[in-house]
Amino acid sequence: MSENEIKKGGISVESEHIFPIIKKWLYSEKDIFLREIVSNATDAITKLKRLQSLGQIGEFDSEYKISVTLDKEAKTLTVSDNGIGMTEDELSRYICQIALSGALEFIQKYEDQSTSAQNGIIGHFGLGFYSSFMVSDTVEVITKSYTGTPAVKWVCNGEGEYEIFPGEREEKGTTVIMHISEGEEEYLDSSKIRSMLDKYCAFMPVPIYFEDGEEKTEDKENADAPINEVEPLWLKNPSDCKPEEYNEFYKKVFGDYRDPLFYVHINADYPLNFKGILFFPRINNEFESVEGQVKLYYNQVFVADNIKEIIPEYLLMLKGVLDCPELPLNVSRSYLQNNTYTAKVSAHIVKKVADKLNGLCINERGEYEKVWNDIRTFVEYACMRDRKFYDRVSSSLLLHLTDGSYITPKQYLEDAKELHENTVYYATDASLQARYISMFDSQGIKVALFEKLIDTQFISMLESYEPTVKYIRVDADIAKALKGEGESEKNEKLEEIFKEVSGNAELKVSFEKLKDETVPAILNVSEQSRRMEEMMKLYSMSGGGSAPVFPLEMTMVINASSSLIIQLTKMAESDEAKAKKIAKQIFYLSLISQRNLTADEMKDFLSDSFDILENL
Ligand code: ADP
Repeated sequence: MSENEIKKGGISVESEHIFPIIKKWLYSEKDIFLREIVSNATDAITKLKRLQSLGQIGEFDSEYKISVTLDKEAKTLTVSDNGIGMTEDELSRYICQIALSGALEFIQKYEDQSTSAQNGIIGHFGLGFYSSFMVSDTVEVITKSYTGTPAVKWVCNGEGEYEIFPGEREEKGTTVIMHISEGEEEYLDSSKIRSMLDKYCAFMPVPIYFEDGEEKTEDKENADAPINEVEPLWLKNPSDCKPEEYNEFYKKVFGDYRDPLFYVHINADYPLNFKGILFFPRINNEFESVEGQVKLYYNQVFVADNIKEIIPEYLLMLKGVLDCPELPLNVSRSYLQNNTYTAKVSAHIVKKVADKLNGLCINERGEYEKVWNDIRTFVEYACMRDRKFYDRVSSSLLLHLTDGSYITPKQYLEDAKELHENTVYYATDASLQARYISMFDSQGIKVALFEKLIDTQFISMLESYEPTVKYIRVDADIAKALKGEGESEKNEKLEEIFKEVSGNAELKVSFEKLKDETVPAILNVSEQSRRMEEMMKLYSMSGGGSAPVFPLEMTMVINASSSLIIQLTKMAESDEAKAKKIAKQIFYLSLISQRNLTADEMKDFLSDSFDILENL
C-alpha cells in the first residue's frame, strides 16, 4: 500500500444484520468485550512465542506485554500488544470477513432462546473482536506484522463501514482503540475497567498493565505491577506447591480473610486434560456461605462462575478454579449439557474430592477430626444428592459423640455389638437431652450428636442406604436401652393418674425397672412419629412454637425401681390429690427433657412448683 492510498469497504454484505445483533444480544454481558480483546492480544503474543520456540524467528529484545489504557478525555479505551501483528492481507481476512454465514444460521436457530445460549455465539464464530462494538461507536486497529511489512490502520464505524489507511507503528503488534459510545460512559470509569480486568484477565498468561491516566497514589512499585498473575498456582505441579501458597491464593481470589480448611489440587492428564484447585471454605454455621464459587477458565481466561454442567451442584458449596482447555471459550449451556466430556470431568472432580476426604481420614485423622464439624454439612448434603459419592466416602463419615470424640459408624457398631446391636443412639440437642444422654453414659452407651437441621434427612438416608442399621434418638428407646433386671407390674391407679395430669388421654404409660434408680420416670417418644412431626414442620414450617403439630406418640415410662415412684404408689392410695400433684411435676420434668414447654405449660408448671414449695 502506498503512502496516501486509502481503501474503503463494508464488513460484508450482511453486516447490517450482524451489527445490531452484536449490540443487542450481548447486552446482558457487555463486559465480556474486554476479555475478548485482551485474550486476542494474549493469543497474538503466544503465537509469536511459539514461532520463536520453533526456531522460525529470532528473539525480540522487548518484554512481551499488553497494556490497557484509559483516556477519559479522548473517550477511548485502548488495548495494545506486542505480539504477532497482522499484515494488510491478514487484517482483511481475519477482521473484515467475519464468518457470517454460520453465525447467521445460528442466530436464526436460536432467535427465541435465552441469552445464555445466544451468548455462546460470539466466540463460536470468531466474532470476539466485534464484541468491542457493543460499547464503541468506532473501533480503530493499528497493526504491524512481525514479518516487517508496513503497518496498517483500520477504522470501522458502528454500521460496519470501514476504511484502511497506512498505519504508523514502529513495533510489531496490534493496538485496538475503542471509542466508547454515548451512553456507555461506565467503560470510561477506571474502577469499572479495573474490576473487569480482575474478573476476566487475572490469570492470563501475558503481563497486563493498566494505565488509567490518573495520578498514581499508590507506591510506584505497586502501581507499575501487572494486574494479572501469569503463572497461576493451578498450573504448577502439586508437589511443588506449598500450603502457604494455596492459602494465599485462596484468600486473594475469594476475598476471604480466613485460610481454607483444606484443598484438592487436580491435575488431570490426557484425555481429560484439565487442572484446578478446589477449596473447602471455613463455614461458621449451617446457613452461612453455602453459596460457593467455582470459577471456570479456558487457558487462563475466565469463562464463568458455577457452571453446574461441569461441577455437580452439591460441590458448588466449595470454592475453586478449574481450567479446561478442552472446552471452547464461549460455551453454551446446551452444548455442555449434551457433552460426554463434561460428564467425565464432573465424575473426575467428584472422585478427587472423595479421595481427599478418605486420604485425610486415614492419614491425618487428627486434622480431619478438627475440621469434621465444619465440613460435615457439606459432606452430608453431597451424600444425599449422590449415592455414588456416599459409596466413595462412607468409610470416612464420622460420628461426633457427646463426649467430644469422633468415631466412624463402623467402629461405633463394632464397639456396641454386645450392648445394642445395629443401633446408633443419637441426640439432637446436647443440653435439652442431657438427662437422657447421662443415662446412656452411665450404661456405657455412646451417643452421637446430630444437631443440624439437615441431620434428620441425613439419618433417613443412612437408614435407606444401610437398612440393617437403625438410628434411634436417646428419648425414643430409653426403656429398651436402660432396662434393668426383672419385670415390673402394671399399676393401673398410677397409669390413670399420669394420663389425667398429662392432659393427654392417648398417653401410654408403661412400668419398667430401669437400671438408674434415681430417675422416677422418662418420656419415650416414638422415633417414627417424631420424625413425621419434624418433616411436617420442615415442609409446612407450621408449628413454629415448641408444641407439636399433632400429638406425638408418647409413652411415659415409670421406673418401678425409683424410690420416688415407690412412695408415689403408696400415696396414690392414701392421698390421691397429693399424688396427682407430684405426678404432674414428674410429668413436666420429663417433658422438659423432651422439648421446650409452651407458654401455658410453663405457667402451669411454675405455679405448681411454687405451690409445692409453699407446702413443703
Ligand atoms: P477469534 O479470536 O475467535 O478467532 P476474533 O474475531 O476475536 O475471533 O478475531 C479474529 C482474528 O483476528 C483472530 O483469529 C486473529 O487472527 C486476528 N486478531 C484479532 N486480534 C488480534 C491481535 N491483537 N493481534 C493479531 N491478530 C489478531
